[in-house]
Amino acid sequence: MPDTTLDQLLANNRQYASGQALHRSTHPGSQPIRPARRVAVVACMDARLDVEDLLGLQTGDAHVIRNAGGVVTDDVIRCLIISHHLLDTREFILIHHTRCGMLAFTDDLLKAGLEGDPAAGKLLGQATGRAFTACGHAAATPAAFHAFRGAIEPLDAPRDAKNLERLAWDVRRGISAILSHPWIPTSGADAVTVRGFVYDVDTGLLEEIAHPGPMGTIG
Ligand SMILES: [Zn+2]
Repeated sequence: MPDTTLDQLLANNRQYASGQALHRSTHPGSQPIRPARRVAVVACMDARLDVEDLLGLQTGDAHVIRNAGGVVTDDVIRCLIISHHLLDTREFILIHHTRCGMLAFTDDLLKAGLEGDPAAGKLLGQATGRAFTACGHAAATPAAFHAFRGAIEPLDAPRDAKNLERLAWDVRRGISAILSHPWIPTSGADAVTVRGFVYDVDTGLLEEIAHPGPMGTIG
């Protein structure tokens, strides 16, 4: 039998991938504010990820923090500090996924395209299969888009060794950013744990990314 929360969630994920529905979607009635499983999940906003379903989480079980890529940004760090210190979560789970759109552009390319560089716009159009329309203005924000490091590939490209490696780099970068933050305790009685995964959108299964691990080279 699974003995830890994460073991249970991974067992739930295998059941989800095999076709079993675990998340109950009706209103559960009054519940406490603190997440019952003491878990915070950071995941990509991709439309193919139903975080509660794929982990078998029930309403009230966990904090779910989502953005483009599931990237550990300043705002995610803000959320995790609040999640742990004020709402008592103890396990952080990062979820990136195969076929992620963050593999298909770079920050510089998107900024140049938005500002009006025709070559950048053409490349983005080819990568996404959508007519890219420049806005013709520079902008100070967002400071970064946090596209994944490495050579870009077409949008929604199937999983291969190279894009899996790029996903793993960003999972490891996120884990490192959390573990090195002075306001997130990683030892002693108040310590949190951090684990990172890549979710395969074709199989429905989570695969753990070892940390620490290689961070690779561009190209
Ligand atoms: Zn994604």
